[in-house]
Amino acid sequence: MPVFLHIIDSCALMAGIALIFSYIQRNLTSRLIRSIASGFLFGLGAMISIHEPFVVATGVRFDARSLFIGFAGAFAGPVGAVAALAVGAATRLLIDFTQSAMIGVLSMAGAAAAGLIWSTRRDFKNMQPWKSHLLLGLMISISLILIVFAPLPGDDPPSVALIIASLTLNNVAGSMLLGGILVQEKRRAERERAAQKNAETDPLTGLLNRRAFDKIFSMAAATPGSPGTGLLLVDIDHFKKINDTHGHPVGDRALQALAALLTRSVRDRDCVVRFGGEEFAIVLPGVREEDVCAMADRLCASLRTFLDLGDQRLYITASVGGAHAELGKISLSELLERADESLYLAKTNGRDRAVCLPQR
Ligand code: GH3
Ligand code: MG
Ligand code: MG
Repeated sequence: MPVFLHIIDSCALMAGIALIFSYIQRNLTSRLIRSIASGFLFGLGAMISIHEPFVVATGVRFDARSLFIGFAGAFAGPVGAVAALAVGAATRLLIDFTQSAMIGVLSMAGAAAAGLIWSTRRDFKNMQPWKSHLLLGLMISISLILIVFAPLPGDDPPSVALIIASLTLNNVAGSMLLGGILVQEKRRAERERAAQKNAETDPLTGLLNRRAFDKIFSMAAATPGSPGTGLLLVDIDHFKKINDTHGHPVGDRALQALAALLTRSVRDRDCVVRFGGEEFAIVLPGVREEDVCAMADRLCASLRTFLDLGDQRLYITASVGGAHAELGKISLSELLERADESLYLAKTNGRDRAVCLPQR
């Protein structure tokens, strides 16, 4: 293939990798899965590069494998670097199992390590973008020095220095072109995740808010084989009196202490949401109806307590309304309505109690 077609080919490969990387960063919520997926993506880039080398002389192939493996270290973390290296090494060793291949694999491992080191150095990442990516390209190229140990075929092999210089140029150009895009995409996705988290978090208590509730409930209710999902609505009794007697700031601190107490009082897999004012909802995944009622009683008892605010202790009680839904039997709005009816009964029957109405 002529050189200019090789360049167009490489650019198309880089653009494709950047697009998929961006998709992974924006759409996969688990950090580990993002690392693994990005690692395999860069591994795929290395695989395509190895299979589409630019042959300068018989047996002497240029390709961008170390660039992609280095990127895995730089942008996909240690797990992603291992995934990319596994793909790159397997691809190279399946072609032939020679001394050159082993040196190629070692060189790829060096590129992954260089990318990882670059990613952990804040000072490297905070440089002007062009300097930072120039440095990444150069660091990824250090392990190319191993080529001096590779036997070069033919009667008149090209000089090792020329090969290393050309590959370094390739890495630096690739890093400056693609590295900037990858950094931007990663930061944009991080900003989007942070904004989404902010939108779903109550700033006073740090709990999830009403906006996150529907998502939490759908996730809890979608577990196959689960005996059902429970919902507890908790409303503090006469909270207005706390504000009126001690002032709004003390009321705020009481709500923070309450959020911590509620989180301590439930199981790890249960989710506490600040529903509004002094009302909280707790989603209980994988429970039977009798578990919800027992949990409602237990919670009401643990909320009959003194809240420790450091300089003072406030006695509180709460009313709890519970409801239960079997998988697919009732909707979220019906479940909420049922829990609300239970809470209303707890309030009208004298407060400081739990009511758990059976499923209709
Ligand atoms: P009940 O036993 O019927 O639930 O009485 P209550 O006083 O708890 O209920 P009511 O709904 O009348 O009042 C709720 C109070 O919660 C009124 C409001 O000032 C207070 N509140 C709501 N949000 C906040 C908040 O973020 N901080 C503080 N300090 N108070 C809040
Ligand atoms: Mg109240
Ligand atoms: Mg209320």
